[in-house]
Amino acid sequence: MSKKVLVIGAGLAGSEAAYFLAQKGIKVVLFEVKTKKLNPAQKFTNFAELVCTNSLKSMVESTPHGLLKLEMSAFGSLILEVAYKNQVPAGDALAVNRELFSLEVTNILKNHPNIQVVEEDVEDPLKLLKDYEAQFVIMATGPLTTDAMTNWIVKNISGEDFYFYDAIAPVVDSDSLDYSKLYFKDRHEPYDPDLDKRADYLNAPMNKEEYEKFVEALATAEKVPAKDFENYKYFESCLPIDTMAERGKDTPRFSCMKPIGLERPDGTRPYACVQLRRENLLGDAFNLVGFQTRLTYKEQLRVFRMIPGFENASFIHLGSVHRNSYLNSKKLLREDFSSIEFPSIHFAGQMTGVEGYTESASMGLYVAYQVYRKLNGQSAISFPKETAFGALVNYIFTAPKPVPSNINMGLFPSVELSKEQRKRRSEIKSIKKEMVVERAKKTLSEFLKENPC
Ligand SMILES: Cc1cc2nc3c(=O)[nH]c(=O)nc-3n(C[C@H](O)[C@H](O)[C@H](O)COP(=O)(O)OP(=O)(O)OC[C@H]3O[C@@H](n4cnc5c(N)ncnc54)[C@H](O)[C@@H]3O)c2cc1C
Repeated sequence: MSKKVLVIGAGLAGSEAAYFLAQKGIKVVLFEVKTKKLNPAQKFTNFAELVCTNSLKSMVESTPHGLLKLEMSAFGSLILEVAYKNQVPAGDALAVNRELFSLEVTNILKNHPNIQVVEEDVEDPLKLLKDYEAQFVIMATGPLTTDAMTNWIVKNISGEDFYFYDAIAPVVDSDSLDYSKLYFKDRHEPYDPDLDKRADYLNAPMNKEEYEKFVEALATAEKVPAKDFENYKYFESCLPIDTMAERGKDTPRFSCMKPIGLERPDGTRPYACVQLRRENLLGDAFNLVGFQTRLTYKEQLRVFRMIPGFENASFIHLGSVHRNSYLNSKKLLREDFSSIEFPSIHFAGQMTGVEGYTESASMGLYVAYQVYRKLNGQSAISFPKETAFGALVNYIFTAPKPVPSNINMGLFPSVELSKEQRKRRSEIKSIKKEMVVERAKKTLSEFLKENPC
């Protein structure tokens, strides 16, 4: 029998998994529902859609996200390769033109000789395995898995505890803004009139009175009610701006509206600031950074037009809240993300308990690598937790509660500083970061030498 794997969901993880296996000569059938129906966060039918921000986070090697990218590249990441080709300016972050990015991923996968694309809302992966005579299935249906598949997972694998809520930020049309009230400047970069309009961020400054009125309006505006209020729970790192406003009047000012490093062109620091990041190279649309929201559409128009420069703003799309699905992997899966109940079924991406575009994509590569080993008669293998891949997997299987996490320094084992290093107090944080990153690079390279991918 030829080696065949089914991948369900052509999002970030599914695209990575399908491409990894296809490049190794494995026949892949890739299922995607988008041409049949879009979920509430999706805008177009192409694969690997970035549904909220257009950023895949830092490219700096000495950051956890930079390190994760290095590791993904070692596994031949399609997502990163295409992202670098479709990059738009965003400082150290890897932001992309999302339409071009998705289009290119789609073309590559659809034209790959080892990939067959099937447009279908998959309802039963076990039946599919039989129908297609495949050895394994990788479920990469993401945080907004369709209802039918959710029912199947809940019934056969997870039980009830399978979702929480998340929110997305609005995008504003750049032509509708009043630029006399706004200024371009990247945080902590010196303001340079020659670079005016070339910075990646546009800033809407507020004085104390404007800020307090705005936060009051956010806190008291009408919100979209959750279907089941008991389960209205968010990622702490991605709280809606209105939830922050409800927590306290200064909460937004110490979070996404913080003014530090955003001095106006005249050198004065605003009381608070709304930051806008370019959505595409033309700069004809801006994302409101950190402004994911559960306000009703009507209230978003009223409240966001209180931002200086937004008096006549028109929005390309407004923010919204959505269900977000993930498994309690520790209880239900093995370390290679195969189901304990159904060993031929694997999960990948956000559903495994990671958070974020890059992390989800990386867990597509991780699972594809494990599946590839098994297709070749090898057993699944533990990744060293000193690596970014290993640190994410280790977190999922050791966290006391299943709370999705992005990659961060706290997930890596600690490093021992020498006496000499401990004396350099102000540098300790960056020394530690460097040591963690260097150790990860060395560990992965040794691991891949012994277990090539
Ligand atoms: C509303 C929202 C906003 C988010 N914003 C951000 C953000 O700004 N930054 C960030 O880093 N992360 C964000 N995330 C988190 C997450 O990292 C992304 O959603 C990421 O795309 C997850 O990758 P994935 O591959 O697991 O799933 P996805 O990229 O969602 O891919 C899943 C794919 O499976 C398809 N599918 C679903 N069910 C079926 C089925 N039954 N049959 C066939 N196909 C199916 C879907 O159409 C989709 O194409 C957000 C999540 C949500 C829900």
